[in-house]
Amino acid sequence: MASAPSVQRLPHSPVLADAAELHGFAELKGFADPAGLDPQLERFLHQASSLLCQWLGQAEAGSPLPALSVLPAVEPEAQGLPAERLLADLQLVMEGAFNPNHPGALAHLDPPPLAASIAADLICAGLNNNLLAEELSPSLTRLERSLCCWLAQQLGLGDQAGGVAASGGSLSNLMALVTARRSRGLGCRADAVVLCSVDAHVSLDKAMTVMGLPAHALQRLPVDAQGRLEAAALGERLDQLAAAGIPVLAVVATAGTTVRGAIDPLDAIAAHCRRHGHWLHVDGAIGAVFALAASQRQHLVGLELADSVTVNPQKLLGITKTSSLLLLAQPAQLQAAFATGLPYMEPSWGAGHGGESGLQGSRPAEILKLWLGLRQLGLNGITALVEGAIRRRRQLEILLAAEPRLQLLGGPLHLLAFRPRGLKAEAADAWSSHTRQALLAQHLMLSRPCYHGHHHLKAVLGNPHTQASHLERLAQIVQANLPEAGDAAGLPRST
Ligand SMILES: *Cc1c(COP(=O)(O)O)cnc(C)c1O
Repeated sequence: MASAPSVQRLPHSPVLADAAELHGFAELKGFADPAGLDPQLERFLHQASSLLCQWLGQAEAGSPLPALSVLPAVEPEAQGLPAERLLADLQLVMEGAFNPNHPGALAHLDPPPLAASIAADLICAGLNNNLLAEELSPSLTRLERSLCCWLAQQLGLGDQAGGVAASGGSLSNLMALVTARRSRGLGCRADAVVLCSVDAHVSLDKAMTVMGLPAHALQRLPVDAQGRLEAAALGERLDQLAAAGIPVLAVVATAGTTVRGAIDPLDAIAAHCRRHGHWLHVDGAIGAVFALAASQRQHLVGLELADSVTVNPQKLLGITKTSSLLLLAQPAQLQAAFATGLPYMEPSWGAGHGGESGLQGSRPAEILKLWLGLRQLGLNGITALVEGAIRRRRQLEILLAAEPRLQLLGGPLHLLAFRPRGLKAEAADAWSSHTRQALLAQHLMLSRPCYHGHHHLKAVLGNPHTQASHLERLAQIVQANLPEAGDAAGLPRST
């Protein structure tokens, strides 16, 4: 037998660290032991979870919007901190956080977080995979592709349909418009326009900026009394543009407008798009998830005719932020718009790298919390959540409609905006401001959007913890804060 190879001692080199130095790096706190279950990590995560569970469980004892709190120091100290200090600092930040788990959290499209979604977010962080490329996220890339296909098919986008997860609906809308522009061969046209309603989301204005188009490239058309894009006005404008030779990059219909939850007439709009061969994007950041409940699908007839759809499960289903999807009838068009070939990656062995189907490069596996959350809810749970939200909107609508001095702006979904009739803009601003404060004092949080020149109060009724008693209290406070008839200043009787 050959003698054991003699280990040749390397001459001491300042470049090569010796064993002790290497060990010193491994001693750095905070990285999980790769050689066995790390008790410190396990304890730390248990304690952090426990803090979170307590915070969620104490929601009702406080207000959805806490008073200003003390922030811990922001800069790292010379020596890294032990777990107890980190947890104490975390606690301080949590005490100053908005609490969506409070039953009175009715201001925005930010529902309480779903348990499975919280757990999946933790696992996602721990896996620290990267949806940029398949070899950095083998199972998760497939999960994203499969779930996007399933959801797109549920929305009726067809057998080829699929899509990609994005960090928010603004990004989904932007990617849709960039894809539309490329697929229509309008990349070089500075005169191309996008048509939408006056109530369409502000993220479309941002998209114009990013795409290098002038602000007026976004042409906003009138809405009817229910806040829906007037399809006849769209038809006329499309004919005018065609006659003038002005290219249309896309038509954007909104399924669920931000203030009142209106749904544009998708089938009529789709018919106009078909006639002209235009791209139809449906911004369903709020409304598209309602198509998952059979009882609500009638509101979304025509959604299946879209070329692309934005869906934001973060806005109603309790999937933790961010959770948005861009779904397309032909997802290959998305790749055609964004693929670069990723020259520093192994070639894809499947249907393409995640970083090739969209604007984002490195990104977390946000699909995990959507997938696990939907599986926890089940189809019946999704339906119950959606129907419960609509039921609460109807309850509040009935309560507020009993007050003739109020003008209500609602739609078929779970949003309801309102303001006193006949107030001038300034008075509506003052009324909404002090009424919001009066509500907050009772731990009911509404938002105060400025809509068509007047401030309103707006309730978003997606919070499953909200009970009839909360809505009754809300209506009482609103009524008690109505201005006297003829009081143009908008101040309540009590002041
Ligand atoms: C919220 C919203 C968006 C933007 O979504 P983010 O996730 O906030 O970027 C786009 N469109 C509509 C209709 C929305 O309500």
